[in-house]
Amino acid sequence: MISKTIQAKHQREGKNAGYTLIGAGKNKDYRTYRCNKCKYESEYQLTHIRKKNVRCANCYLGQLKSEAKEASFNLLGAGTDPERRLYECVVCKAERELYTASIRNGEVRCQTPQQYKRY
Ligand SMILES: [Zn+2]
Ligand SMILES: [Zn+2]
Repeated sequence: MISKTIQAKHQREGKNAGYTLIGAGKNKDYRTYRCNKCKYESEYQLTHIRKKNVRCANCYLGQLKSEAKEASFNLLGAGTDPERRLYECVVCKAERELYTASIRNGEVRCQTPQQYKRY
């Protein structure tokens, strides 16, 4: 049966990318896969799975959170574009939208000048 053969192919491709095929997707180009690392389930485009060009949103979130922690920021939520997220400085509590790459590279610092006592 052709469909079984195709399913086996999608299973194999998923395995190579680190995912387990668990079901159908929103259309013929998508399937639902489960991340082998964190068990998070999501729909992925078959071509992306094949090229291993996929990123588990849950694993990525965990990565962003730990990177933020290392840079002394808390990850608060989404940014205005996919490259950025909203972060909170742990020192001054200021909220800033920053590039995830900048956080990763340790390029961001607290921007609030030190508060001096007023006499
Ligand atoms: Zn994951
Ligand atoms: Zn700060």
